[in-house]
Amino acid sequence: MQHRFQSIYDRLLDHYGPQSWWPADTPFEMMIGSILVQNTNWRNVNKALLQLRPHLEPVLIDKMPIDKLAQIIRSSGFFNIKAKRIKAFIDWFKDYDYDIGQLKKKDKNQLRYELLKINGIGRETADVMLLYAFHKPIFVVDAYARRIFYRIGFDMPTTYDGFRMVVEKALPSDLQLYNEYHALLVQHAKEHCKSSPICKGCPLNTICEQRLN
Ligand code: SF4
Repeated sequence: MQHRFQSIYDRLLDHYGPQSWWPADTPFEMMIGSILVQNTNWRNVNKALLQLRPHLEPVLIDKMPIDKLAQIIRSSGFFNIKAKRIKAFIDWFKDYDYDIGQLKKKDKNQLRYELLKINGIGRETADVMLLYAFHKPIFVVDAYARRIFYRIGFDMPTTYDGFRMVVEKALPSDLQLYNEYHALLVQHAKEHCKSSPICKGCPLNTICEQRLN
């Protein structure tokens, strides 16, 4: 299986080039963006981040009344729920003096366990934070990865962590590889492997079973 995951990665990288994710100026912006993007698209997140940018410091968001925060991030959708989630995240981050460096030193599994205990931080959100803010090598399982691997012909586990571990067992624990892999799968799902796929010209065409049902 190893060579197949690696081969997919190599073909995507060759076709799309390095994606250099996550699209954020700071790790803090990355983490807030990962909460805002839940159940919406990046265009709406960008609008919310534009409004939030003058306040994009942990201390400022901590002091901000939750109703005000909800209004500022309104364009991301589910804004009341997301404001609560951001506040819960800030409460946890505050316990570490908002120090990313301190958190980066923590063991990956322990850090993941703590993130998953925060209200509203699920596995996908925790894992993108681990990967793009805390620089821990981890494979992010999202709807795009599920769709692409299924269509190629892989029978992946249905559970989040089962899926993740199959990929992680097959690949080296390489931060740069996981950083690019997730971004490349997103790019591929947008350009070729859309809900109605464009298989002509797809870089995975020759290794894909094209299971479309
Ligand atoms: S060949 Fe078609 S189904 Fe297979 S990965 Fe490419 S776009 Fe998706």
